[in-house]
Amino acid sequence: MSAPPSPIDPLRRRLAAALAAGGAAGALPGWAASSSRKRRSPLGVALIGLGGYSRDLLAPALQATRHCRLTGIVTGTPAKAEEWQRRYRIPDRNVYDYDGFARIADNPDIDVVYVVLPNHLHKRFTVEAAAAGKHVWCEKPMAMDAAEAQEMIDACRRNRVQLTIGYRLQHEPNTRAWRELAKTRPFGRLLRVKADAGFNGFRNNPGDAWRLDPARGGGAMYDMGVYSLNAARYTTGREPLAVTARQEIQRPEIFRGVDETMRFQLEFPEGVVADCVTSFGMNINLLRAECEDGWYQLEPFQTYDGIKGEASDGRRFDASLGPRPAMQALQMDEDALAILEGTPPRVPGEEGLRDMRVLDAIFASARADRKRVEIAAG
Ligand code: NDP
Repeated sequence: MSAPPSPIDPLRRRLAAALAAGGAAGALPGWAASSSRKRRSPLGVALIGLGGYSRDLLAPALQATRHCRLTGIVTGTPAKAEEWQRRYRIPDRNVYDYDGFARIADNPDIDVVYVVLPNHLHKRFTVEAAAAGKHVWCEKPMAMDAAEAQEMIDACRRNRVQLTIGYRLQHEPNTRAWRELAKTRPFGRLLRVKADAGFNGFRNNPGDAWRLDPARGGGAMYDMGVYSLNAARYTTGREPLAVTARQEIQRPEIFRGVDETMRFQLEFPEGVVADCVTSFGMNINLLRAECEDGWYQLEPFQTYDGIKGEASDGRRFDASLGPRPAMQALQMDEDALAILEGTPPRVPGEEGLRDMRVLDAIFASARADRKRVEIAAG
């Protein structure tokens, strides 16, 4: 009697098929390329860009992870370097500035570079980190547009490193249970999705300058809108065919050349429609699915903790990971394991690219005053 197939077998089969199909690094999925690398747990992670998210969430989370730990920093601010070195016991040899970043290639303490910079710098440092032979975790939005996202994927493939996007919600248990419903459809045919993500309280602080700067990827759509967009895609389990989008600005003295609020409607196959709103001027945080035989919703659906929801049949989404930064710790541990085991990461670069294609269409539609824009199939 033969042994039952191991869960890893389908992965091995995909890898073998990819190798048989060409063998060149370019033909392999990004995740497969890393399986030849010998890495030991825990992986060393360098955070690049020591702003709010690195400081308040990622560095604390890296104190709680099992399969990775904070070993390096890349910063343009010497005072931060000193403080972080003291707090996290980071030796001088693992501290870089942006100009000297390429030297990281020679540092065996660092396996992964996590790009936590303003959006216009994601491509540059992903490509440089990949060229240095480091795996890359990159924050959302992946890039400024789909062309940049594709360049990032290509660079990581070429250099045989994994590329993973920091969509932390895709690791969160209630969101994962939610996504299963797209497959099992307990409420019959999906008709409509509502995905609203935004906050009010944007005060135009000097530290937020890049979030208002079109050249650095500012505006609500890049920042919060990707949550609505990504959620609409994982709720339907399909790719949108077309979009209609409208930009609104209530405070023109603050929002110059970037969107304060974006409303967009995505058309999916089989007539499913997703109505999405994102804003820097409204507290909105709801994901809802209307189906032929019922509904289900998460509210809030995109906070750092406390994601919860319910459904028309009484079921609840109430799993708890614990307080922040548990979600980021889970995300980074799962992403580290994917590298260590040579398996596909939960959120590969290709997932970020799919969002960037839609984002390009959303901006094109808003620029053309709500023109319906078809989205090229990827
Ligand atoms: P911050 O403005 O707080 O920090 C950005 C840091 O980048 C700065 O502190 C600075 O660090 C560095 N930097 C380098 N060049 C520039 C530049 N030209 N302009 C401004 N800063 C620069 O941003 P966040 O930490 O909030 O966001 C960083 C990234 O993380 C963004 O892509 C954002 O979308 C994403 N993010 C994701 C979240 C999530 O939940 N997944 C939550 C929050 C943010 P230094 O002084 O060290 O050089």
